[in-house]
Amino acid sequence: MKKGVVNGRVGAILPSESLNIASKAKALAAAGEKVCNLSAGEPDFDTPDHIKQAAIDSLRRGETKYTPVAGLLSLRKAIAEKLRTENGLDVTPARVIVSNGAKQSLFNVFMALLRDDDEVILLSPFWLSYPEMIGVAGGKTVVVRGRQERGFKVTPEEVRAAVTSRTKALVINSPSNPSGIVYSESELRELADIAVACGFYIISDEIYEKIVYDEARHVSVGSLSPEIGEWTITVNGFSKAYAMTGWRLGYVAAPDFLTQAMDAFQSHSTSGPNTFAQFGALAALQAPSDDIERMRRAFSERRDYLVRRLEAIKGVSCVKPAGAFYMLPNIARFGLSGVVFAERLLEREKVATIPGGAFGSPDHIRLSYACGLNELAEGMDRFERFVAAL
Ligand code: PLP
Repeated sequence: MKKGVVNGRVGAILPSESLNIASKAKALAAAGEKVCNLSAGEPDFDTPDHIKQAAIDSLRRGETKYTPVAGLLSLRKAIAEKLRTENGLDVTPARVIVSNGAKQSLFNVFMALLRDDDEVILLSPFWLSYPEMIGVAGGKTVVVRGRQERGFKVTPEEVRAAVTSRTKALVINSPSNPSGIVYSESELRELADIAVACGFYIISDEIYEKIVYDEARHVSVGSLSPEIGEWTITVNGFSKAYAMTGWRLGYVAAPDFLTQAMDAFQSHSTSGPNTFAQFGALAALQAPSDDIERMRRAFSERRDYLVRRLEAIKGVSCVKPAGAFYMLPNIARFGLSGVVFAERLLEREKVATIPGGAFGSPDHIRLSYACGLNELAEGMDRFERFVAAL
């Protein structure tokens, strides 16, 4: 046996460009530089107090033991209720599995669903973790390119052309990380009709559902018809809507055969998610709260500001986001790849962003506006200066 050889699927995971920039940004900050961080994937807000209090109370009551693998029944009931009333999905608590973040929920889905070489269609620009998860689960990623000229949206014809006899699933992430686009109900229906006709699953990652702007509306694709519902796996979580990234709680609602497989898988990987975090999540769902709307309005104001600033910079073009808290300006006019652009922007002006290549979009960089307006303004002043000097 050869020494020092890792599992091939894990060895194939690409080193993350975003982590590379993040570690450089950290090193600069540690050296005393004032870095503007426009790369964060999490709200800058604190978790609302009533959620924290519920977790504290649960600890005081002694809720410190394992919960069922799929999560507390009370939480799964509240999630099923939320999915039924808010999202129009036909879900029972038995079809809900709570995990340590939507990231684990997605990983569970790919592990339970994919057989070797099954294909999963991703719509670019896509969230950078999907291809790595698909690869580790033994699947193959097939990318359908969302072109900037068409607002980063794909057409049904483009998706149909990518379908083969091995297509097992299509991932839809609306609102999207990194582009901020939101698919309308009719666009979702067209994509879902292909899935039903060809017989593959839709994995609908709805983690940014609460963060939508102006007339954009989030629609759960699984609610569009009972048949579409049977082909849909819905993933969501508490990180973004409730500013609970560090609590690590996400969930999935899926057909029975898959929940059973995911339950078995999770039982041997992490068991049930953190117990007292689940009591916090229960409070998040049960207590009426203005916090979601307060944060959404703040993101909306920042988005408007960022769009105004970017539109004023010659050579940069972008699609106005309708949701989430990211933007994807195109920087190809400057003759630098996204990686080189982001590296130089960090070195020269100390602004941290993420190169678009990781999202399947090498001509872009991703800016996050999950930071205060002052930091955003400072970041954009520096960005403008950097571009002017190119
Ligand atoms: N899905 C998307 C599109 C995301 O952007 C993220 C986090 O950045 C996640 C899922 C995972 O969220 P979490 O694991 O914090 O619940």
